[in-house]
Amino acid sequence: MIVLPALAAVVTEVARADDTKVAQSAVQYQTKPNGDKQCSKCAFFIPGATPDANGTCKIVDGVIAPNGYCTAFNAK
Ligand code: SF4
Repeated sequence: MIVLPALAAVVTEVARADDTKVAQSAVQYQTKPNGDKQCSKCAFFIPGATPDANGTCKIVDGVIAPNGYCTAFNAK
């Protein structure tokens, strides 16, 4: 049945998502700064291995770019 692989992929993705965090779409996350506001200057950002590497966020789900931005920005 051709639907099952797609459904399994969705279930896996949902299971992998951290439900204590909000979806990027809920806070209008973008991969570019908003003026001088960007993730690397936000108190919620968890940096990657290097300053240019993607990291994560304490409150927003998924991979977060250091020069990204969302409406939950909170300056350090
Ligand atoms: S709260 Fe928003 S601006 Fe701050 S690090 Fe997370 S995604 Fe970036």
